[in-house]
Amino acid sequence: MRYIGVVSPPSNDDRSTRLSVRDTARRTAALVNALTAEPSPDPHAIAGILLDHGEPGPVELTAGDVAGMRTAALRLREVFAAEHVDEAAEVLNRLLREGTGPLRLSSHDGRSPWHPHLDSDDEAPWGEWFLASSCMALTVLIWDGQRPPGGLCSSSGCGDVFLTVGSGPERRYCSRRCATRERVAAHRRAKAGPRSP
Ligand SMILES: [Zn+2]
Repeated sequence: MRYIGVVSPPSNDDRSTRLSVRDTARRTAALVNALTAEPSPDPHAIAGILLDHGEPGPVELTAGDVAGMRTAALRLREVFAAEHVDEAAEVLNRLLREGTGPLRLSSHDGRSPWHPHLDSDDEAPWGEWFLASSCMALTVLIWDGQRPPGGLCSSSGCGDVFLTVGSGPERRYCSRRCATRERVAAHRRAKAGPRSP
């Protein structure tokens, strides 16, 4: 069973059982990076990321499931590669048109609160589910922020995707690690450069 935005069945207390749009988008970014890092990602590693991001277990993925998810990841990466919100919206519109179904509500036969789905069926293949749930989250982020929902790391040799957070200055690197590596490299280049007379 696959949820788009729900981590556990409804309970009587007031705690939210729903993944926020941002949580879903975080899961998308983590999966896009893991699925595109190599041609044949390890199904156990991908299942681990799903569990880390609230998917109820057990999660068992075949090599075919992961191949389908990887195809979706390569398409979703284009949304992160867009430098302007108009371009990001255009790419998303294409994915919504070609890769997702009409909006529908599901409660997984009463096992969860009602929540939106863009895949064709609760038992849709993992690749279809991944593309659909990611498109939904990225669509809402664009709607809400009126800016690209994320970007690609500028550090040479990295290229991971990251989400746009807060309203601070535009981000260039996926992580503090990549930012530090680039700063050190720039410092070395400056030191090795021609000395002034
Ligand atoms: Zn990076």
